[in-house]
Order: sequence, then structure tokens, then C-alpha cells
Amino acid sequence: MNLFETLGLSAPLLEAIDDLGFERPSEVQQAAIPVLLAVPTDMVALAQTGTGKTAAFGFPLLHLINPTEHITQGLILAPTRELCLQIASELKQYAKYMPQVHIVAIYGGASIEEQARNLKKGAHIIVATPGRMQDMMRREFVSITHINYCILDEADEMLNMGFYEDIRAILAETPREKNTWLFSATMPTEVAKIAKEFMHHPKEITIGHKNQASDNVLHECYIVNGRQRYEALKRLADANPSIFSVVFCRTKRDTQAVAEKLIEDGYNAAALHGDLSQNQRDLVMKGFRAKQIQMLVATDVAARGIDVDDITHVIHYQLPDEIETYTHRSGRTGRAGKSGVSMVILTKSETKRIKTIERIIQKTFEYKTIPSGMEICEIQLYHLANTIKDTQVNPAVNEYLPAIYDVLNNLNREELIQRMVAVEFNRFYNYYSKSKDLNAESSGEKFSSTEGETRYFINIGERDGYDWRLLKDFLRENIGLGKNDIFKVDVKDTFSFFNTEAEMTQIVLDTFSNFKMDNRAIHIEISQQKSSKGKSKKDRKDKKLLHKGDKRRASRSKDSSAISFSKRKRRK
Ligand code: AMP
Repeated sequence: MNLFETLGLSAPLLEAIDDLGFERPSEVQQAAIPVLLAVPTDMVALAQTGTGKTAAFGFPLLHLINPTEHITQGLILAPTRELCLQIASELKQYAKYMPQVHIVAIYGGASIEEQARNLKKGAHIIVATPGRMQDMMRREFVSITHINYCILDEADEMLNMGFYEDIRAILAETPREKNTWLFSATMPTEVAKIAKEFMHHPKEITIGHKNQASDNVLHECYIVNGRQRYEALKRLADANPSIFSVVFCRTKRDTQAVAEKLIEDGYNAAALHGDLSQNQRDLVMKGFRAKQIQMLVATDVAARGIDVDDITHVIHYQLPDEIETYTHRSGRTGRAGKSGVSMVILTKSETKRIKTIERIIQKTFEYKTIPSGMEICEIQLYHLANTIKDTQVNPAVNEYLPAIYDVLNNLNREELIQRMVAVEFNRFYNYYSKSKDLNAESSGEKFSSTEGETRYFINIGERDGYDWRLLKDFLRENIGLGKNDIFKVDVKDTFSFFNTEAEMTQIVLDTFSNFKMDNRAIHIEISQQKSSKGKSKKDRKDKKLLHKGDKRRASRSKDSSAISFSKRKRRK
């Protein structure tokens, strides 16, 4: 039995839920749906994006409206055009077997007349941004005097964006006896004020603690000198070859500058900020959703409403001013049950703020060191070897092989492999041979002593279904270690790294000396990655570092200063 059946939802909704493949209600759905269906009530639900909150209000709303009555019965307010479109599209999927139900999205940056025409055809549910909604009301294109349900989604974001007055004015036009359901990731005082002013004895639901960050996100910080933020960002990207990330900057200027530098240096990056036209922003988001853009550099305002499920990393190029903003940023990853990593690049003087963030989000940060050139090289070489192993061979190449065999005739297997990986290796070498340790001097001693630790390589990764949490559990269970014995877990596409205290090295190696899982040999090796902490400057200088040239695909756009076309070129 599908567990949604126990919540009391109507048959057409259950059928759509089946089609969507939702098997069991998420925590917020389990908590909200039965309450909203039972009796008319106001509700305040504290839940992050990615927890299934759209369905938590969408299913009851669709269940409760009367499709045969041709008036607007439900209004959903959301902070951004992107979120508006996303909610409308989700609701349409939920209402797949309720053909009479009309759902209309209205938002800025698109023709108001066309939206007015859509409304004229009748809308049971309107999904709107507050600004455009007000505009529509002033022009009398819309009537919300008979609505029964008003939903404020991402209320904290709407208030952050300065929509307080708009929301007040809109709510003033709605009937007193309607039900208001407020969804918010955090509970700053402004949200509490709205709840107090416009709601009557709301039922409260809290998923996790108030202002708590998602459990699926690992929080890391990297301490560098201020001037080296950009170099540090590049290293973090290079150390994560399959990265799909949002990089947050504090200002539009920094956002544009960082994105431009990344593009220049051959990364698939783009900027998203308020100075771009709607058309440019749409193009950027399209490229990001299609994963042509691996690093979306964004301001907090522009990134609101980005609901992309597979973001692997959120990188805070600079810490935000408001701590709630940190929760929002990091909530862009670890969505829909997946895991993610939130990485903060900061200077020594900012470390105090990490303590405050830790207290509020109730999570502990892991202090890590920016990988050295050698570490990146090791990661990239394993990545290359796995890419070669997994490459699908196009049979069209066969025609050329005899001639290629002739060219490579004198090389044995080892020589051939050596040269193949050397093609990449040489490029890494040139790039990283002059690279420095980017970690701020004292950070290592203070926070991240890697002396006395062992780093391991293991030949399983994301593609085997592991994320950092699952890999940690897998290792702990098999080796028989405690909760904190495995740390600095870094899961890549087809392999991973992790650390233990040095005294556990033998037991780790012994456990995996002859280990098979589903008939596959699982190898663990001691990684050559060493932290540059604890080494003398001379050691570092003497160390032969490796270099990396550009191997990323270029990204293209016809109509954008934000994405530019970059040819294969060497990293600067
Ligand atoms: P939301 O928090 O509403 O943005 O939802 C995040 C994602 O989870 C969306 O892609 C939903 O389609 C998906 N989702 C919502 N509820 C469920 C569920 N019960 N089971 C599986 N996926 C869900």
C-alpha cells in the first residue's frame, strides 16, 4: 500500500502521487497533510526547501478546493518568479487527474496582459510573486475576495526581499475567515510578526529545530588569506571534478568578477545577479539545470528560488552578513534526500562568525585544508583513469585503429598507460609547479592538525550509490569504529578519500585486505595526499607540484554577458 493512502487524500490525488513515484510522505507532509485536511486551520510550518513542502500544502489545497465552483479559491505567494513557476508546475502534476482545476502563475518580467488573459479564463489557484500580484490587483485584473486558502511560501525570503508591505496589502483584500498556511525555512522576528498579525492560533510544525540546517549537509571551512580566495575556490573545484555548485558572493560586482575569472580560466561557470536581464537570467538557469554550467556564481538575492535538486556543493566565497542567509544558501544542496557539502572560504579574522553559525544551525563545521597541487593531481589522475575505464566506445573509431596500432606498436601495456595518463599529468604539472600552500599560516595548527592522521583512497564513490554519510556508515560498520573515528570523507564520482587517526591504519588496511562486495574487490590504499601543514617552507618549495591545464568544456550563450564562450586553453 502506498503510505499516502493513510493521510486521507482523494483518489485523483493518490493516482497522481502514484504516477510521480512518491512512495511515502516526507516528514513535513506527514505532519501537515492530516492536520490541514482535518479541520479548517491556520498553520506555521518551519521546513527547508527540498523537504517536500510544496506537496505538503499542495495536496491538501487541491483536495479542499471545489473545481466546479469557478472562482479563485487559493492564493500562493512565493518570493521569486522561478519558485512561482516551479510551484505551478508541481501543482499541475499533482492535479493531473483533476482536469477541471486551473492553476495560473503570475510573476514579474513577463507580459502582464497575457497573464491577465490567462486569469480571465478562470483560475482556481493563483501562484504569484507579491509585486506582480499587487500590480494585478491595482489594475483590477484579479479578484481574491473569495479565497479560502492563502499560502505564504518561503515567507522569510519574501520578507528579506522587502515584500512586507505588499504582503500586508494583498492579505488585506482577502476574507478574514480564510485559512493561512505559512511555510518558512527560518523564523526571524519579521516572520513571527506576520504570523501574529495575520493568523489565528496557527498550528505549528517544525521539521528539525528552528533555523536548523539540513541533516544531509556537511559543513566545511577553509581558512585562507583574503587575497587568495579566488585561488582557493579554483582548488576546491579542481579537487571535485564532478562538482555541480552554487558559489555565493556578497555583491553583484564580486559575483560578475569571480564568474568572469572562472570562465577565463576555463571553468564552466556563469554569473547570476540582479543586473542581468530576465532573458539573460533565464538562459543562465537553463544552462545550469542542463548541467552545462558546473559553477553558478550568484548573489543571495538572485539565487532565491533556485530549486535544483542535484547541487553537490554550495561554496561561500564570502560569508553572508545575516546568519539566516547561511541556512538558505546551504539549503540549496542536500535536497530531496541527497547529501551535499557547504564549503566556506574565510579569513582568520572571520572564524568567530563560524562559532555563531554553528550555534544557530546546530551543526559543527569541519576545518579542512585547501588541497595542495599534488593532492589535486592525485584526484584528477584517479578521475581520469576511471573516465577512461567507463568511456563508451563509439564503433566509428574502429576504422582508424589499425593505423593507431601502427603508431603505438613499440609500446607495451605499462608504457601505453603511463603515456596516456601523462598527457593530463604534464598539464597539471605545468600549472601547479609554482603553486603555493593556500592555507592561512595558523589555521593548520589551530584547527586541522593532519599529523597523526592517515588518509586513505577507496575505490568506491558516488556511482556506487555512496555519499559522505553512507560511506562513513559503511566504513564504520565494517571496520568496527566509533562515530568520530572516520573523518574528512570526500566522495568523488568513482572513488573516495577519508581519514582516521594513524593508530587505526593497520586495522583499516587489514579489514579491506581481501574484501569483496557483490563480487567486486574493494581496495583501500594509503593516499599520497599529505597536508602541507607541519612542513617547512623549504619542503614546500622543494616539493614537485603538478599542474593542470584546462580540460573543461566551454559553455556558450548567444545572448549573455554572463556566460561567455571560452575555448580550450591553459589555466592562467
Ligand atoms: P520541495 O521541498 O517541495 O521543493 O520538494 C523537493 C523535491 O522532492 C521535489 O522534486 C519533489 O517533487 C520531491 N518530493 C516531494 N515529496 C516527495 C515524496 N513524498 N517522495 C519523493 N519525492 C518527493
